[in-house]
Amino acid sequence: GGGWNNSRDWDKREREVNPFDDDVNDKTDGAEQAFREQENTGINFDAYEDIPVETSGENVPPPVNTFAEIDLGELFNQNIRRCKYVKPTPIQRHAIPIALAGRDLMACAQTGSGKTAAFCFPIISSIMREQYVQRPRVARTVYPLALILSPTRELSCQIHDEAKKFSYQTGVKVVVAYGGAPINQQLRELERGVDILVATPGRLVDLLERARLSLQMIRYLALDEADRMLDMGFEPQIRKIVEQMDLPNRGVRQTMLFSATFPREIQRLASDFLSNYIFLAVGR
Ligand code: ADP
Repeated sequence: GGGWNNSRDWDKREREVNPFDDDVNDKTDGAEQAFREQENTGINFDAYEDIPVETSGENVPPPVNTFAEIDLGELFNQNIRRCKYVKPTPIQRHAIPIALAGRDLMACAQTGSGKTAAFCFPIISSIMREQYVQRPRVARTVYPLALILSPTRELSCQIHDEAKKFSYQTGVKVVVAYGGAPINQQLRELERGVDILVATPGRLVDLLERARLSLQMIRYLALDEADRMLDMGFEPQIRKIVEQMDLPNRGVRQTMLFSATFPREIQRLASDFLSNYIFLAVGR
C-alpha cells in the first residue's frame, strides 16, 4: 500500500481506491445509489431569510448568495447538483467564502444547519487544487492533508458519507476512523491512501501512538460539534492531537471550529487553536 504518494501515481491511486470510481460503479453503482437516495432534506429555506447572522473579525469576506458565485470547479458543481443542493444555507453562504479565503473560523451553528458542506466544500476544493503535492514516504505511515474531528462514531460516519458524495470522481480520498471497532481494518483502509481523515478523538490518538499516521502534512483542521466533544470529556485527547503531536502550528494550518454554543471552554479552545480568526454566529 501507500504507493500513491507522488504525482505519477495519482491516476492509479484514484482508480484503485476510490469506491465511487467508474470501474467500481459498473459493479456496485454505490455513489449513484447514494445520490438517488438523497432526499429533499426538509431544510426550510424560507425560514432562513430572516435568520440572524453575526460576524466579527478583521476583513470578513462577504457572503455569497449562490453556489455559482464560488469557484469550486465544474466537477464539484456537478456533485453539488447531484446532492440536490440548490442554494447555500446561511452558514454555507458565510463560512465557505471565509474558508476559501484561507481564514480561520469560529462558527456557532446548530445541528442540521448545513455545517458539513460548510467545512467540506472548501477543504475538498483546496485539496483538488493541490492534489499533486509531494508527501513523504515513510514505511507504512500515511499523511492526510485534512483532519476533521467529530465526537461520535455516528457523526463521523455521517460526515464521511457526505464528504464522499461531495468528492465523487474528484480523486480526493476520504477515510473514517472511530473507536469501538477493530483498528486493523481502519489501518488497512488508511494504508490505501487518505487525503481527508474524519475521526473521533480517542481513536485518532490511538492511531497516532502507533505511528502509522502522521499529522505533519495537515493543512486543514476542522472540529465539528466542539461543545459536545468537551461534554464527552475529550478535551485532553483534543489538546494532545492539536498541541502535542506533529500537527503544524496555527497560522500554518487552517483551522475551523464549530460549536452549537460558545461557553468559556470553547472560547478558550478558540483562542488556543485559531489564528486571527473570524467569528460567525448563525441563528438565535
Ligand atoms: P449539520 O452538519 O449542520 O448538522 P448537515 O450538513 O448534516 O447539517 O445538513 C443537514 C441536512 O441538510 C443534510 O441532509 C444535508 O445533506 C442537507 N443540506 C445541507 N446543505 C444543504 C443545501 N444547501 N441544500 C439542500 N440540502 C442541504
